[in-house]
Amino acid sequence: MLYAEVILPLPLVSTFTYSVPEEFCALVKPGHRVVVQFGKKKFYTAIVVSLTNEKPQGYEVKPISMTLDEEPILRRPQLQLWQWVAEYYLCSVGDVFKAALPAGLKVESETFMELNPDYEESADARLSEREAIILQTLDHAGKRMSVADIEKATGLTGVSVTAARLLDSGALVISEKLVERYTSRKVTYVKVSARQGDADALHKAFDAVHGAKKQEQMLLALLDMSGHTRKGSEPTEVTQSALLERTGLTQPILRAMATKGVVEIYKKEINRFRHNGMVTGELPVLSDVQSAALAQIHASWREKDVTLLHGVTSSGKTELYIHLIDFVMRQGRQVLYLVPEIALTTQLTRRLQRVFGDKVVIYHSKFSDNERVDIYRKVLGGREPMVVVGARSSLFLPFANLGMVVVDEEHETSYKQQDPAPRYNGRDTAMVLARMHGAKTLLGSATPAVDTYYKAKEGRYGLVELKERYSGVQLPEIEVVDTTNARKQGAMKGALAERTISYVRDAVADGNQSILFLNRRGYAPVAVCKMCAWTPKCEHCDVSLTYHKRIDKLVCHYCGTPYPLPTVCPACKEPAIEVHGYGTERMEDEIAEVFAPARILRMDLDTTRNKDGYENIINEFSNGKADILVGTQMVTKGLDFDRVRTVAIVNTDAILNQPDFRSTERAFNMISQVAGRAGRRDTRGTVAVQTREPSHPLFQYIRAHDYAGYYEEEIEERRKFNYPPFTRLIYIYLKHRDRAALDELSVAYGRRLRQLFGTRVFGPEEPNVARVQTLYIRKLMLKIEVNASMKKVKDIMRATFEEMHASGMPAVKGAIVYYDVDPY
Ligand code: ADP
Ligand code: ZN
Ligand code: ZN
Repeated sequence: MLYAEVILPLPLVSTFTYSVPEEFCALVKPGHRVVVQFGKKKFYTAIVVSLTNEKPQGYEVKPISMTLDEEPILRRPQLQLWQWVAEYYLCSVGDVFKAALPAGLKVESETFMELNPDYEESADARLSEREAIILQTLDHAGKRMSVADIEKATGLTGVSVTAARLLDSGALVISEKLVERYTSRKVTYVKVSARQGDADALHKAFDAVHGAKKQEQMLLALLDMSGHTRKGSEPTEVTQSALLERTGLTQPILRAMATKGVVEIYKKEINRFRHNGMVTGELPVLSDVQSAALAQIHASWREKDVTLLHGVTSSGKTELYIHLIDFVMRQGRQVLYLVPEIALTTQLTRRLQRVFGDKVVIYHSKFSDNERVDIYRKVLGGREPMVVVGARSSLFLPFANLGMVVVDEEHETSYKQQDPAPRYNGRDTAMVLARMHGAKTLLGSATPAVDTYYKAKEGRYGLVELKERYSGVQLPEIEVVDTTNARKQGAMKGALAERTISYVRDAVADGNQSILFLNRRGYAPVAVCKMCAWTPKCEHCDVSLTYHKRIDKLVCHYCGTPYPLPTVCPACKEPAIEVHGYGTERMEDEIAEVFAPARILRMDLDTTRNKDGYENIINEFSNGKADILVGTQMVTKGLDFDRVRTVAIVNTDAILNQPDFRSTERAFNMISQVAGRAGRRDTRGTVAVQTREPSHPLFQYIRAHDYAGYYEEEIEERRKFNYPPFTRLIYIYLKHRDRAALDELSVAYGRRLRQLFGTRVFGPEEPNVARVQTLYIRKLMLKIEVNASMKKVKDIMRATFEEMHASGMPAVKGAIVYYDVDPY
């Protein structure tokens, strides 16, 4: 008997053994997907890691229910990477599996599915009875259903197994509410059979559907959508899915009409990967300084696996990447180009596509899951050179032949995944991935992370610097605006000082653009009763609520729960609730008057929720359709607008006063990055940095664009207080519904760890937000010497918790523990 060791997409530390039924023996190989039952009713897609003939002892072994692949879906280095991530970041391989594969490649009982409107059975793939029942059920329901719901409706069991196959054949698709409808590579269109202008034929068509109400309705909708009866222009092509969506009718009705010859259903290939714009294939001509830097990178590669390119904003780092990508692809190898935010991909991909055309592949979470499956399979399908641009999850694509990984804006915090596990840092994982492929890593930043710069200075990474902007465009002038003083003199208008206002106004008056950066979304971050100082808080989380005016609701930014804004204070019964402070929504509202008639755009989570949200706003702003862009962090990231003259950082203190040892680093990076957006070829830009604390030492470095000076001061602080890069940190989070149990547990865990690690253990403490989604939270911190064996530390930590578990301490029950390694 053959047994397979499989990874399940669950937070379980071990792998699991299943027997391989005779008929599957030839089909089950490492890296293949199989469907297995886990627990009484649930089915999951699992990945085979190894095979053995040895029967496991001590429990009953279940058989694999189904195989899904003829070829491995994973390449060997991927599995290795998963294992590394799980070990290093203290999570399960199952957690990594969950994050690594697009949902469309892993069916679970909870997966929602719907019929793929563009699918047609081919003759050679006849449906089994079970498959037919499932498809009929979904067709009948006319909406998405979870696998569990299908089981309820049909009385069948093990539907996931069948569903997995239907998903793989394309008959079903994973249903995603928020994301734009999937367009498969073959799109189905519908047209009226009657030729345009042929009134007789059209009459006949109406006769043919006469009495069939739905068919009539469909025909009318189709005529309308295609503009068939419009004179003087060709009818527009109508997709089947758009037609069905508009009418709310189903495909069988259309088919019946096609049989009568009233409509024609036809397909067209579209190639999602084809780039339609111009491809020059030409590399940018580098300046002397840039050429010298390029040569240095090549030289550094001969000795080091990792090189840091430290180049001021607009020095041409991207142009260097393009040269290096070309170099690597000419060797027949692949490139992964990581960006911290998908907001960055729009402008960047255009630049890359101009040079590399169809070899540019984009992968990120705003794509629908089905699109992600397509890209995954494309990468899996070959070894040819390509450059994949993506956010951190693209590290998990099945590269065959990686030659270089670029980590652009390597200092960005968004490279670190916070929740859920795996809590990995994309930058650091990239280096591991590169090493597995024998590839080089290039880290790029205008403001490298202190840790990274330290390693470069120490000689562990190569270091190449670009100190001037391309073609000598000047760095902007930075003006620190003292808001305490302004307030005293009555020179504040809302959140903006008059000085800031005048900069923006001047820029707009001259036909230039401005950006206002504010770290908060929503209308107002604080609501309070002016009689008794009561403030509304989330029922599930220990945070105050943000008022959103457009929906007229208070919203918890931690769990998303909306609440009505009370008109009467629930504590003192007075109608005295007021909102205070500024979020982007309010900013947008209020500055409309201040800067009238300037045109204003807003970019934050709320305005970019749908797929093309970012892209539309970025396009509009860069095409000059607006004068002022108000936004959160999103506006700070590497965007290249060449008409921006003024940037204002509205609330610098909110960044600076975060209770974290990296708060100065964050502030320096953020301000420098935003500042990098200001300045045009002909005029020097201005950055207004509003703060109540203008004497903070950070500002002198920011004003002087002095990264080195700031770094020297910061690294000394880190050394003095034993923070990274001089130590490694692990945060331990404990969560529990019951506060007393949590306190008991966290104190006990802390005590045990102290017995082993002594003064390296800190806490437990209440984190800033001490309750989220009804769970209380406590945090412990471990500071470990860099040369200690992290593996040992982690093993001990885990074992200690397990001992507590085994000791039967009641508080352990219902507790959640997780670790954040190298918190960022
Ligand atoms: P960075 O990535 O360092 O911020 P970019 O590569 O985006 O800098 O360059 C900033 C701007 O200068 C871009 O508009 C880019 O097209 C232009 N630029 C930089 N180097 C060159 C070059 N060698 N030839 C033409 N344009 C360049
Ligand atoms: Zn009150
Ligand atoms: Zn909440």
